Amino acid sequence: MITVAVTGGIGSGKSTVSTVLRELGAVVADSDQLAREVVAPGAPGLAEIAAAFGPSVLTGDGALNRPALAAVVFADPAARRTLEAITHPRVRARFEQIRAAAPADAIVVNDIPLLVDLAVAATFHLVVGVRADEQRRVGRLVGRGLTEADARARIAAQLTEEQRAPLCDVVLDNDGAPDELAEQVRTLWTQRLVPFQANVRAGRRAARGPVTLVDHRPSWAADGRRLAARISAACGGRRVDHIGSTAIPGMPAKDVLDLQLAVESLASADELTDALAAAGFPRSDGSWQDLPRPAGDDPDHWVKRFHANADPGRAVNLHVRIRDRPNWRWALLFRDWLIADAAAFAEYRDLKVAVAARYADDPTQLRYAEAKEPWFGFAHDRAERWAAATGWQPAAAGSEVTGTGDRGTVGGSA
Ligand code: ADP
Repeated sequence: MITVAVTGGIGSGKSTVSTVLRELGAVVADSDQLAREVVAPGAPGLAEIAAAFGPSVLTGDGALNRPALAAVVFADPAARRTLEAITHPRVRARFEQIRAAAPADAIVVNDIPLLVDLAVAATFHLVVGVRADEQRRVGRLVGRGLTEADARARIAAQLTEEQRAPLCDVVLDNDGAPDELAEQVRTLWTQRLVPFQANVRAGRRAARGPVTLVDHRPSWAADGRRLAARISAACGGRRVDHIGSTAIPGMPAKDVLDLQLAVESLASADELTDALAAAGFPRSDGSWQDLPRPAGDDPDHWVKRFHANADPGRAVNLHVRIRDRPNWRWALLFRDWLIADAAAFAEYRDLKVAVAARYADDPTQLRYAEAKEPWFGFAHDRAERWAAATGWQPAAAGSEVTGTGDRGTVGGSA
């Protein structure tokens, strides 16, 4: 089973995407509909709303008076938070019921118009965004019966496409005809969702083709935050850092994100095995150990667990290391040193490019890694000298909380 959120601004085409996913076999839960259910006459949510806002938010026959409630919360952010504190947990609980009742091989989709929070996005295996140009959205909403002014006001109150994109693993484009959107959904289904689900169910990682060095992609930073938040959510909020070359702005890298989960002990790493597999990060068998640095250091300080992800659309390596052990600290120091030291950055970049070109024909990539190794030997001493000179310490928190605003909220709302 995997869970997928579908999100996008009003008029972007979410309902169209959900409809196609349902036709393809997904179990679809619509958040707007769940939100209506939790405040239906007789539902406990409605009683709580009446208790919080008074009888004026009810109609004569005891149903929710939506315009009256909207008038209250529109003008008062504190009142809106009160309302959300009543409705959001109930909507989530309803979704949880639907998820729990779905078959073991289901792809469960939640259509969420107001996905604004990375912590919420992180509870899904995948977040699918739908986007369309604002002018087109306004035109479609007017076609659906809204006035143009109303359509624009609603769009202005929501996240912009730029704010939403970092929350999404994939963004579908709906500037074309409905059929073109449907075709993108079918491709996503067959090439990503179905194999992702099958991999999670089987507890196996996604197959990876040959990976080659590519120029740094600005999207890697948001990918790292999103995946760190997802792994953290599966592991009781533990710290997760985006490490390696994809975490160093400007550095060319293979398109494989390296992430590091901090655990208290190998026993706690092992306890998290099942939760990580269910979240889409199955463990790789065998005993894993980083090369000690400096070379003579106690190899026991460099043990780890290694997981790779089940999503065929985005390769991730997850290194599970014991917090404050030398291998945990080195991953952070190496990243931060290369971000701070332009000369070291250029050396490492040039080395990677040269070695990748030299061993381009080696399908195993082993010689690429081998050829970089001597440089790491003396890089370690230099990085440690840099740390001593600058007073470097690992940051207090990892990438799972470094979004803008509190707990990764990207701002805006509906
Ligand atoms: P959302 O659920 O994101 O608000 P909808 O899927 O309901 O958006 O789409 C908004 C309106 O635009 C609907 O009336 C829908 O039929 C129409 N629509 C969606 N996609 C297209 C498209 N590619 N071309 C034309 N109209 C579209």
